[in-house]
Amino acid sequence: MKDRREARTWAEIDLDALAHNYYTLRALLPPECRFLAPVKANGYGHGAVPVAGKLERLGADMLSVACVDEGAELRRAGIRTPILCMGVTPAQLTGELLDLDITQTVEDLESGEALSRQAQSLGRKLRVHLKVDTGMGRLGVYWGDGDHTAAVRELLQLCRLPGLEVEGMFTHFAVADSDEAYTRRQLDRFLEARAALEEQGISLKICHCAASSAVLHYPCTHMDMVRPGIALYGYYPDPEGDRDSCPPLKPVMRLYSRISAVRSMPAGARISYGGTAVLKRDSRLAVLPIGYGDGLPRVLSNRMQVLIGDKLCPVVGRVCMDMCMADITDLPQVRAGDVAQIYGDGLTDRAAAQADTISYELLCRVATRVPRIYWENGVRLD
Ligand SMILES: *Cc1c(COP(=O)(O)O)cnc(C)c1O
Repeated sequence: MKDRREARTWAEIDLDALAHNYYTLRALLPPECRFLAPVKANGYGHGAVPVAGKLERLGADMLSVACVDEGAELRRAGIRTPILCMGVTPAQLTGELLDLDITQTVEDLESGEALSRQAQSLGRKLRVHLKVDTGMGRLGVYWGDGDHTAAVRELLQLCRLPGLEVEGMFTHFAVADSDEAYTRRQLDRFLEARAALEEQGISLKICHCAASSAVLHYPCTHMDMVRPGIALYGYYPDPEGDRDSCPPLKPVMRLYSRISAVRSMPAGARISYGGTAVLKRDSRLAVLPIGYGDGLPRVLSNRMQVLIGDKLCPVVGRVCMDMCMADITDLPQVRAGDVAQIYGDGLTDRAAAQADTISYELLCRVATRVPRIYWENGVRLD
C-alpha cells in the first residue's frame, strides 16, 4: 500500500487521460468552436474542482454545472473560467449568481422576468443563455412543428428584458445516440429558432446544442460551442454503437478495492444477505470492502465481475452496504491485501449494462467516502 487512501476502496483519476480526451474532441471541431466542459455532479464523480482546474489549464472556454452550489464550489476553489448553470435557479439567488459570475440558463419568460427584476433591483445585469426545447421534453421554450409565433414572441421578450444580457441560446438532443432522423429534426428546429431571432435583428453570440453523441457523430451540430461530458471522461454515450468513426477515448477513472480477507468455503455454503448464492463447489472467496455505500449498485449482486490480476471474477451473493464477495477459486495465488479493479478499462460499461444503466450513473454514484487519487503528467498528486 503506497498511500493511506489505498487502504480500502479508492478511485484513481488520470488527468492525463482527461487531457487526451479533451484534445481528441477538440480535434473534431472547427478552430473557432468553443468548448464547454460539463463538470456537474462533482465532475461526473471524478471530483469537480481538480477536474475543472485541469480543464481550465487545458483551455476550456466554459464549464457547466447543474446548480448554483456547484458553481460556488468551483469559484471558492479559484476557478475563473466562465460557468454556465444549466439547471433552474430561483430568482432569490440572482445576487449569488452575479457575485459568483455564473451565467444562468433561462427556460421561460416567467422565470426570465423574475431573474431580470432581481438583477435590476441590484443595479446589475445577469448574463444568461436561453433554453429552447426542440424535442427533449425537459426545459425550454417549446419549439415544435406547428406555429412558432408564440415561441418567437417569448424569445424576443426574453432578449429585451432590461436585467438580462442574453449571450447565447441552446437546446439538448434526446436521442443523438440512436435516432438520426429525430436528431436532425431537433437541429432543424433549433436553426429555425436562431433564424427567427436573426430576422428580428437579434444575433446571439453563442448558440450550442451538441453533447457527446452529437460531437462524435454529427459535425453539423457543432455550431458556436459544444458540451461533451461523458466523452471527456472517456466513455462513449452509446457503448454498443459503431466505433469505427469514433476517435479513441481513455477512461479517466479507475476504481479499485483492496481485498479484506480470503476465505475457503465448502460447497453448499450460502453467501451474503438473503442466501441468494449457494456455492456449487468448494470455493475461495475474496471479501471486497466495497458495497452500495460506496456507490456500487446492489442490483449488481450475483451479476458483475471484478478484475483480479487478469481474470474476471464473479461477484457472489448480494452486494452489502460496505462489502461484497468475489469468487477467486481459480486464482489460488490471490491473497488478502491484493487489489481488485471494479471500474475502468471496459469494466464500467460492462457493469452498467449488467445494472441496466449507463456509465454516467455508475461514475456519478461513486460515493464521497471513496478517496480520489489524482495523477498528472504521469505523477501521483497529493
Ligand atoms: C449533461 C449535459 C450535457 C453533457 O452530456 P453528455 O452526454 O455527458 O455529453 C450537455 N448538455 C446538457 C444540457 C446536459 O445536461
